[in-house]
Amino acid sequence: MPKTVLITGGTSGIGLGIAREFANAGYNLYLNGLEPNGEAITAELAAAHSVAGLFSNANMLQPDAIAQMVQQGIAHFGSIDVLVCNAGIQYVAPIDEFPAEKWEAILGINLSSAFYLSKAVWPGMKANGFGRIINIASAHGLTASEFKSAYVAAKHGLVGLTKVLALEGAPFNINCNAICPGYVKTPIVEKQIADQMKVHSMSEDEVVKKVMLGRQAVKDFIPVETLGKLAVFLASDAAATLTGTALPVDGGWTAY
Ligand code: NAD
Repeated sequence: MPKTVLITGGTSGIGLGIAREFANAGYNLYLNGLEPNGEAITAELAAAHSVAGLFSNANMLQPDAIAQMVQQGIAHFGSIDVLVCNAGIQYVAPIDEFPAEKWEAILGINLSSAFYLSKAVWPGMKANGFGRIINIASAHGLTASEFKSAYVAAKHGLVGLTKVLALEGAPFNINCNAICPGYVKTPIVEKQIADQMKVHSMSEDEVVKKVMLGRQAVKDFIPVETLGKLAVFLASDAAATLTGTALPVDGGWTAY
C-alpha cells in the first residue's frame, strides 16, 4: 500500500518541490497551503504521477484547524506516514522596529505549527510502528543574520524540537530530522531580493551575489530537487537510523 505524506506549505516553492519528489516515489499527497489554487495544484500533481491527492487550506496559526486537517487526512488515506513541516514566512527588520505581530506570526507558523502537527500525527505513527517527521528549518536554524530575530529564533527552536522528537520517537520507529537549506529561489526569496534592492540601492545581480549568496561558498541557489530528494531519502527505510539531525544543504554557508 502506498504511504501518505502530509506537506504543509506544499503548494508553493520548496514544499511543492518536495511534493513532486514524493509523488515521483509513489507516495499519496496530502498538501496544505494558502494558495487559492491549492486544490488544482494538488490534483494536477497527483494525476501526473498516478497517486492519490488531497488538499487542505488549514491555517498553520490555528491549532484546532491543524488537528482537524490531520484527522481528515487519516480518515481519507488511512494513515499519515510522513509529515513535512515546511510552511513558513519571513520578515526582516531591526529588533527595535520589529512588529510584535510579525514576531507572533513567525513563531506561530514556523515553529508552533510543527509542535501541533507532530502532536496530532504522533498517536497514529506510534500505533503503526512507523513515522517520519521532516522539519524544513534553514541555515538560519544553525547560524544567525542581523534583522531576522523572529525567523532565526523560530528556526533554532525547530531544530531543538527535532532533537526532542527524535529521542521520544526512537522506541516507536518514528524518526525526526531537520533540513537546513541555504537560499532557494522561491516566492519568499523573490520578495527579499526586491526589498534588498531598495534598501541597498543595488541591482538584482548584486543583491543575489553579494547580499544573499555572500555567505555561501557555492554561489548558486539551492535547487528544490536537492531538498525533495533528501526528504524522500529521510523517509525511506535506508534512513532508519538517521534521526535527530539538522542537515545543512547550504552551499557551505555554515562550514565557515
Ligand atoms: P514560499 O513562500 O514559496 O512557501 C511558503 C508556503 O507556506 C506557501 O505554500 C504558503 O501558502 C504556506 N503558508 C504560509 N503561511 C501559512 C499559514 N499560516 N498556514 C498555512 N500555510 C501557510 O516559501 P519557501 O521558500 O518555499 O519556504 C518554505 C519553507 O522553507 C519555509 O519554512 C522557509 O522558512 C524555508 N526556507 C526557505 C529558504 C529559501 O531560501 N527559500 C531557505 C531556508 C528555509
